[in-house]
Amino acid sequence: MEMIKVGARRPAMLDRPQQEMLIDGQRVPALSGKTFETRNPATGELLAIVADGDAQDVDRAVKSARAAFEGPWSRMKAVERQRIMLRLADLVEDHYEELAMLDTLDLGAPYSRTMLGKARAGALLRYYAGQATLIAGETLPNAAMGDVISHTLKEPIGVVAAINPWNGPVGMSVWKAGPVLASGCTLVMKPAEQTPLSALRFGELCLEAGVPPGVINILTGQGAAGAALSAHPDVDKIAFTGSTGVGEKILHAAAGTMKRVTVELGGKSPNIVFADADLDKAVPAAAMAVFANSGQICSAGTRLFVQSSIREEFMERLAAFTRTIKVGDPLDPETQIGPVVSAPQMDKILAYIESATREGGEALVGGKRMSGVGYDDGFFIEPTIFTGLDDTMTIVREEIFGPVLSALSFDTIEEALQRANATEFGLASGVWTSNLTTAHRMARGIRAGSVWINCYQMLDPGVPFGGYKMSGFGRESGPHHIEDYLETKSVWIKLD
Ligand code: NAP
Ligand code: MG
Repeated sequence: MEMIKVGARRPAMLDRPQQEMLIDGQRVPALSGKTFETRNPATGELLAIVADGDAQDVDRAVKSARAAFEGPWSRMKAVERQRIMLRLADLVEDHYEELAMLDTLDLGAPYSRTMLGKARAGALLRYYAGQATLIAGETLPNAAMGDVISHTLKEPIGVVAAINPWNGPVGMSVWKAGPVLASGCTLVMKPAEQTPLSALRFGELCLEAGVPPGVINILTGQGAAGAALSAHPDVDKIAFTGSTGVGEKILHAAAGTMKRVTVELGGKSPNIVFADADLDKAVPAAAMAVFANSGQICSAGTRLFVQSSIREEFMERLAAFTRTIKVGDPLDPETQIGPVVSAPQMDKILAYIESATREGGEALVGGKRMSGVGYDDGFFIEPTIFTGLDDTMTIVREEIFGPVLSALSFDTIEEALQRANATEFGLASGVWTSNLTTAHRMARGIRAGSVWINCYQMLDPGVPFGGYKMSGFGRESGPHHIEDYLETKSVWIKLD
């Protein structure tokens, strides 16, 4: 078997070509013995052969999570869970080079980018660790006759299933594990089939930090494993991040046993530049809002609206900046953009590019798969900007999840708002202006879960993130996220 060679930085985990799943603290193969391959999308090289879990493995993982939930974990004090989480935060930071390299190899994102996740991963775990000891019920007045006390208890909801996308693997694992550990729930987490590696390593680090076996299970597998997990009768809550289409399937699967569900789905986010914006900042930010991670970010600013009076200058500068973006080897520190994750994803993006041309759009920059030495074995697509579009065209309406920007223009703030909101999605948005009134009017008017003003793609453990409309429901991060992992029980005590 051909294996990758990245010298000293090659993660030790890849010395073992077979990667089993992690259930009840043990690395175990699929009960069926089936496997699937995971490859490096920059080179096509085989990285590992991964256990392909199915319904039987899902059942085994859920049983393990249930047993752990009812075992010592349920009696552990919040302060103990907090201590474990703080240890985990340190361990994840200490091993971040390895985790980032696993993601770089598996996903194709530049190492310089995957390493940026280190600060966030540590901060997320510490934020949720802090929340562990803040979980508390309330004593509430009542109008009952006689002397009756009423108070609430906050209890962990039980076994959580997390089903993850491939576009930010280790960050997603940490984000899903945080509220689970803080609340005292247990987890079966299914990473995406394209990027299973860093989740397995993260699961091992959880054990090393002192998370009891069975509390965090990593179930590798394909879509069928996700489907079995979301239908399993003993799963209490699903935290899904992925496409809107799969999100709909999960809601159906969850209905039969009334599981709690939160869904973080796709987007087609507007990024709106007013004539009074600071263009030195807005130009590179508008480009990277869509091209970062090869466009594979749910909240990417894929619909750019530029006010007509500055359109010509802005587009010239945007095109010039975009031509300087370095696309290539994810291990090269100079690289800004790597390949897209897989051949099917590349084909899907190229089909969108074709549709744009067919429907009358014009590629101002890019528009092709990249070829030549260093590109032919991978799935590289040029950063692409389309002009000559109207709001009804396919690439303006649908999520592409690739490095393709739809550039549009507008005249008035009313028009900008109306067109920004004319989408089935509502995940995020950007506004560039130096006018305070414009900023506030846009912030109030846009129907999306995040509005970034004079910035883009800001995330923080303390600030909620999630969607309106078809972008899903539920908010991850922020002070209230943990509520989704807790049940409220009312206790009445009559004193006479
Ligand atoms: P996806 O196709 O929806 O897959 C997401 C996860 O669901 C994967 O683990 C997948 O398994 C699994 N899955 C597939 N079919 C399933 C089924 N019937 N039941 C249960 N699970 C199933 O999404 P993706 O292509 O990996 O990721 C891209 C999408 O995620 C984009 O739409 C993007 O906008 C969205 N996303 C949203 C956010 C957010 O926070 N809002 C963040 C990141 C990404 P396999 O991989 O094995 O098929
Ligand atoms: Mg891969």
